[in-house]
Amino acid sequence: MAHIVIMGAGIGGMPAAYEMRERLPKEHKITVVSAVDYFQFVPSNPWVAVGWRKREDIVLPIAPLLERKGIGFIGRPVTAIDPVANRLTVEGGEALAYDYLVIITGPKLAFSEVPGAGPASSGGGGHTHSVCTVSHAEEFWRDYEGFLKELGPVVIGAMPGASCFGPAYEFAFILDADLRRRKLRHKVPITFVTSEPYIGHLGLGGVGDSKSLLESEFRGHDIKWIINAKTTKVEAGRLFATEMSDRGEPVKEHEVPFKLSMMLPAFKGVDAVAAVPQLCNPRGFVLIDEHQRSKTYRNIFSAGVCVAIPPVEVTPVPTGAPKTGYMIETMVSAIVHNIADELAGKPVTAKATWNAICLADMGDTGAAFVALPQIPPRNVNWFKKGKWVHLAKIAFEKYFLRKMKAGSSEPAFEKYVLKAVGIARLVK
Ligand SMILES: Cc1cc2nc3c(=O)[nH]c(=O)nc-3n(C[C@H](O)[C@H](O)[C@H](O)COP(=O)(O)OP(=O)(O)OC[C@H]3O[C@@H](n4cnc5c(N)ncnc54)[C@H](O)[C@@H]3O)c2cc1C
Repeated sequence: MAHIVIMGAGIGGMPAAYEMRERLPKEHKITVVSAVDYFQFVPSNPWVAVGWRKREDIVLPIAPLLERKGIGFIGRPVTAIDPVANRLTVEGGEALAYDYLVIITGPKLAFSEVPGAGPASSGGGGHTHSVCTVSHAEEFWRDYEGFLKELGPVVIGAMPGASCFGPAYEFAFILDADLRRRKLRHKVPITFVTSEPYIGHLGLGGVGDSKSLLESEFRGHDIKWIINAKTTKVEAGRLFATEMSDRGEPVKEHEVPFKLSMMLPAFKGVDAVAAVPQLCNPRGFVLIDEHQRSKTYRNIFSAGVCVAIPPVEVTPVPTGAPKTGYMIETMVSAIVHNIADELAGKPVTAKATWNAICLADMGDTGAAFVALPQIPPRNVNWFKKGKWVHLAKIAFEKYFLRKMKAGSSEPAFEKYVLKAVGIARLVK
């Protein structure tokens, strides 16, 4: 009998637990250890921030869902990993031995890299908000309710070193839509401040026509922008950014006034993972081979935001490559196949396609992209806007939450529908 421990119960961790349970023979034990005892559907956080969703709409208690499937659950963070003894320590001192460890711990939000930035509740300076967690989104919503009575300029964007740009665009359009519905948009100048070298780069070197389309949408929605922005500090009501040239030289200093701000931070790996010798790169992301396996420890696998992926290209202000939801699920499937094969005495062969499908809501319309694979050059490089994306995103939220409640990772119809359009999780 083997004991497989999965660290993290987010967008990658929950499907990993379900898929592992479906594929592995019953004699093998599976335990999930996660920092908190609830699952949150992260892509809906921007809606929570403007009051379009409540916490209870997008959060599920984990223990009953996993226990019903015969999967153990510990709702406390891992504080240390001993990869030589194959043991980890959970907050409170409990030790847990494993045969295989699957790390899917998402990001550590590096607010401290820009003085003054980030919610004070997460160790930040308190001058900018985030929508990275449901609690951060709720904090924004509380401030937004006050802001609606006393309006002013808004700054939205992404910090130097950020990799997750899609939600910053989404949030700018969602806030714009919410203010228009309230007939208050004309009193709120919005500036988008981003480390990307151009609008629509998305940490991906662009996807299809994302540059022209998003620039045009920003113009149409009266959102000003600053690109190649190295945000250096944030004070109460003032964001300071140095705009860099394409050659990486400073060209202009900006002092952008705001009443309310949401800036996505750069990501790092979480402390317990980053502290393991030889496991990670200097930013604490897990170094993996083509089978999602640690390059140093052969019984450690990793997926999701916490794995190391090189940036798609060098940019004047550092940017990273995003790890999107479907891409993460492809990594998870590869891990499950590989552990199952190894337990059956077969060699590890599964490789994730890292295909990316992304739906970005824009309030009443939306933009979708398909990047196959996510890292260029690509076989499919497609970016389109339409009202159907807004509706598809709502449907996707309901579908994913239902999938988590039902305890299945890839229902047959999802597999066959995506297969019909040429999108698969594993490399053939
Ligand atoms: C606001 C936002 C919106 C997004 N929207 C989309 C979208 O629309 N479409 C899309 O494709 N992608 C989207 N993404 C990108 C990506 O899909 C998400 O970031 C996704 O949540 C990443 O999944 P993950 O499993 O890697 O990490 P997470 O979902 O963040 O899960 C990490 C898990 O690890 C746990 N954990 C952390 N530290 C420890 C520890 N020490 N011990 C044990 N457990 C720990 C956490 O509690 C959590 O359960 C979005 C990202 C953000 C931030």
